[in-house]
Order: sequence, then C-alpha cells, then structure tokens
Amino acid sequence: MTRLSLHALGPNVTPWKVGQRVGVGWHGGHDFVCEQFRRGLFINCVNAKITGISHDGGYAEYVVVPAESVARIPEGLAAIDAGPLMCAGVTTYNSLRNSGARRRHSGSARHRWARTSGDPVRVAHGISDGRDLARRRQSAARTRAHEYIDTQSVPAAEALQKLGGADLVLATAPNSEAIASTAGGLKPRGKLLIVAAPFEPLSVSAFGLLSGKSVAGWPSGSAIDSEDAMAFSALTAVKPRVETFKLEQAELALAKMLENRVRFRAVLVP
Ligand SMILES: [Zn+2]
Repeated sequence: MTRLSLHALGPNVTPWKVGQRVGVGWHGGHDFVCEQFRRGLFINCVNAKITGISHDGGYAEYVVVPAESVARIPEGLAAIDAGPLMCAGVTTYNSLRNSGARRRHSGSARHRWARTSGDPVRVAHGISDGRDLARRRQSAARTRAHEYIDTQSVPAAEALQKLGGADLVLATAPNSEAIASTAGGLKPRGKLLIVAAPFEPLSVSAFGLLSGKSVAGWPSGSAIDSEDAMAFSALTAVKPRVETFKLEQAELALAKMLENRVRFRAVLVP
C-alpha cells in the first residue's frame, strides 16, 4: 500500500507536520493577489497552477507542491482511493453540492455520489457502442442507480422525459454530442452541469432553454474541497472503482486509458 505523506516542509509552512497523510489534486496553487483569489474563488485564480502541468508531479514517488494545494487524507481512507477522489471525485462531489439541486434529481453518471447525496436519483448512462452493454447495466446496478438508459436504443432526451424529466444532468463523458443530447430531457428550470472537457463545441437548442433551463460547467475544486470529498467518502464508504498499475507500468496505464479500457480509474502505485 502506498503511503502518501508529507516528507519535508518548506520554510514558514504551517500548520502541516512531517508524516501527515496528504495529497494534491488538479488545483496546484494560486497567486494570492488576483480578484478571483480575493473573492475566495481559488480554483478560478487567473494564475492558478495545475499539478503535473505547471510543475512536475503525479507520475513520481516524490513531488514538491505549493502548500496551499495540499489536502489532508482522513484516517481509514486508502491512498489508492484517495487519488481519484482528489480528481474526478472532488469534481463530482463539488459540482453536485454547488449545483443548487435538491430533491428527486436525475443525473448522468458518477452515480455513486449522486445516489448518496440526493434523494431518489435516476441515472442516464449514455454509451458509445453496444460492446459491453451487459457489463454497463451491471455496473449501473452496483452503483445503486434506479434507472438505466441505453442511448443506443432510445434517445437520451426522450427517455429522460418518459421518467418525468431531469432536474439535473451531470455530464461526465467528454463527448459534446452525448452531452447535448440530454438537454431536451431536462425539466423546466433544470440544469445541465458539465464537468467533462470535450473540445468540440456544444450544440443546444436556444429555444429549448427558454423554459428556464441552464447549461453550466464546474471546475473541480481546491484543496479544502478535496478534503471535504475525501471526508464524505470515508464517512459514507462511497469509493471510486480503480484499476491499479505499478509506477513502472505508467505507459501501459496511459495507453489503456486513452483506449478507454480502464475500469474505471487508473491508479499508479509506487
Ligand atoms: Zn489569482
């Protein structure tokens, strides 16, 4: 089991202690001066640093990071689970809790948290081909989804409307066409919340939005949001499903991920 802990501290770094269990997510630091920072929107800092992009880290046994990007890992949460929780996990958790959604929400994917954090949740799970439909159905059942929509056999919007319409669709698959196809399934005042990052533009009917529907995006979270996400996971035993690879197999893990063959998050273990 990998350890994930503070090995050394820079000068004047408080309140951390050497040996504490910590990790870092996408948000790798901020500038402490811009307007967004001053408003407390650290993730929107105009000079925000990104772990593994602004500075090296991630695919390594040791990494040097800005103190403000460090998140506590709760006791009882395995490092292997903590990794995805500080990436896809915090993004899902934080977007849902800031979505304004209340009861009876319908969501698309990342069901585990949706199911736990809302009242009855119905889930649309779009798929790109029919290869492993059975497995996906099983997966939806395991994640306690109430409903499963196979968008190969019925358009997402139509199926969602048949279920009464969605208050919230959380779009996690980086496919603009699939995301746009759910907009018509929203209730009036419903929200299509996007946390995936497709490059293609999104094509949604403006007329269809006039009933008060909205389309919005959400950018993961800062270190304290990661702590909240991990604490929630430790409390509720809602955990990511991961496939582990040795650090030396990083290239293989990346290749599998790019081919969409990882079940479901690739975690490198030194
Ligand atoms: Zn800033």
